[in-house]
Formats: sequence, structure tokens, C-alpha cells
Amino acid sequence: MVVGVLALQGSFNEHIAALRRLGVKGVEIRKPEQLDNVSSLIIPGGESTTMAKLAEFHKLFPALREFVKMGKPVWGTCAGLIFLADKAVGQKLGGQELVGGLDCTVHRNFFGSQIQSFEADISVPELASKEGGPETFRGVFIRAPAVLEVGPEVEVLADYPVPSNKVLYSSSTVEIQEENSTPGEKVIVAVKQGNLLGTVFHPELTADTRWHSYFLKMAREVGDGASSSIVVVGEE
Ligand code: GLN
Repeated sequence: MVVGVLALQGSFNEHIAALRRLGVKGVEIRKPEQLDNVSSLIIPGGESTTMAKLAEFHKLFPALREFVKMGKPVWGTCAGLIFLADKAVGQKLGGQELVGGLDCTVHRNFFGSQIQSFEADISVPELASKEGGPETFRGVFIRAPAVLEVGPEVEVLADYPVPSNKVLYSSSTVEIQEENSTPGEKVIVAVKQGNLLGTVFHPELTADTRWHSYFLKMAREVGDGASSSIVVVGEE
């Protein structure tokens, strides 16, 4: 099995290494025509405005949108999730182009800037194994976005408490105002909608490959029930 990894910017090497640990080949994607050679795609974390500029330069947006529309599995991590969202808020300079397809609103730097990056255990029931393996996953949040709103088709896989110095004013506004914070409020940090998977944190920066396995399972399920356009090269 081969998986495409968008390799314009960000942590694409780390995703390829994680796939390799599972015996799967990750192929770097930089040009629209390269998408024809893969049946699933990971869009890594990095910096979404830079990635969008590079994607525009390489004329990748139409091909990426087509890939999503064809129902091929796509996983966006962090900046990659921002790419997949139908709507992004929290941009300073008038927004950026998005691939879209994932019916949600993300706030770009919800959890703060680089120095507010953190690690935390999150609970992900979908990752628990049948043998009673843990559902806890160590989330690496780097300038992490959050999902503020989801459409009816979107499955929430994990959420996380809103930091105590933040307030959700509406689906599109977040302001820092310590005295008004609402304890217990949560934001969404992992979602699935059909062929699309999104995580606001970076599983590729941990030794735990359960998210990659989860995505590969999605990819195989689509591959099994799909047409000859899905190229499966060997097995894991
Ligand atoms: N918040 C960043 C952005 O807007 C994404 C951070 C990341 O991918 N680690 O691009």
C-alpha cells in the first residue's frame, strides 16, 4: 500500500517515517499529477498560510479538491486540518485559500503561539483496542488550531478543555479574557467525516502509530469497496 504525503512544507518526513514503521510506503506529493499515483493522502502540519501559498504556486488546489471529492481518504494534521476545513477563522491578514470538504469551522491558532505549545493526554475511544488497550493518546499541540463548530455529518473523535484564559464568544470569535472563562467548556480536537480525518495535534511526532494505523484502516476500507482507480501496491 502507498500513501501520498503532501510535501510542500512542514512535518511530511515525520509522517513518512511513521508510515514506514507500519511497513507502508509514503510518497512525497508536490505536483498535481503525482496525486494520480496515490489512493490516499496525508496533509501534514506546518504553517497553513505558507503551505497555501506553495500549493497555489504549484497549482495544486484544483487537484486536491478533486481528490477529496472523489472520496479518497485524506488526513489533515494541524495545518493540514485547517486546509481541509470548509471555514477557517482567526487569520490576521484576510484569510487564505482552503481545500475544504470537511464541514467544520477551525480557529487557526486557538491554543496560542509557539511558546504556548504543549503536550497533553487526550481520550480517544476509537483508538482503544479490542483487547482492552488504552484510549489515551499523547497529543502534541504546536500552535494548534481547534475545531469550533461541526456539521451533522462530522463525527467528533476527541475533545479537549478550553484553556482557562480563553472564552468562546461565538462560533467565530475567541478572545482572551481571564475573568470570564467558563470552566468545563471543550473544543473539538479530532474529527472524521466519511473519507476525511482531521487532528489538531501531531501524531507523527510521537512513537505511537495508532492514528496512522487508524488512517490506513480507513484507506483500506475505501480501497476494498472502490473501483480500479485505487492503486494498491503490495500489502503492509
Ligand atoms: N496554527 C498553524 C497554522 O495556522 C498550524 C500549526 C501546526 O501545523 N503545527 O498554520
